[in-house]
Amino acid sequence: SQQTIDLASYIRSIPNFPKPGIIFRDITPLLASPEALRETVRQLADAVRDRDVEAIAAAEARGFLFAAPLALELNVGLIPIRKPGKLPSETFSHTYTLEYGTDTLEMHKDAIKPGTRVLVVDDLLATGGTVEACCRLIEKAGGIVVGCAFVIELTDLKGAERLARYRPVSLIKFS
Ligand code: 5GP
Repeated sequence: SQQTIDLASYIRSIPNFPKPGIIFRDITPLLASPEALRETVRQLADAVRDRDVEAIAAAEARGFLFAAPLALELNVGLIPIRKPGKLPSETFSHTYTLEYGTDTLEMHKDAIKPGTRVLVVDDLLATGGTVEACCRLIEKAGGIVVGCAFVIELTDLKGAERLARYRPVSLIKFS
């Protein structure tokens, strides 16, 4: 029989973290539940099943938590995207603008064969800056971004519009 799990009930909202006025959406209760985590990975897989995904890419750190089980579920490999100086071989690098300052992400140059169909995964879509940077790195390497998938989307920040060309999907929406 089909048991329905309300994934949103496994997200804890923490006011004033990491700074005053921000409501942080905490995924740790979802991670703590094998039923909820399994259902999350199943729903992410179902949402991208028709895109012929050949590889999953994700940025550290929370993206990794969903990328690895999703890669296994889709039977594809996993490409880690990391903060500067962490990856040991030659990298592509992309610097992007934040509210205050900039951030940089890196990916191994040989992580993707040109033409590979890549899905980007992250825990949460806010402005879309992080995943857009990931998509740029994949494109620098000659990959094709066939989608991006999120557990949570903060709809007010319009990240889905920013990422529209990468066909974003998300499981839980907060406004
Ligand atoms: P964006 O680049 O879309 O503006 O921000 C998304 C990134 O910030 C994600 O990698 C995500 O892990 C992190 N992030 C921002 N706000 C939250 C939040 O409230 N909860 C969680 N779990 N991650 C957040």
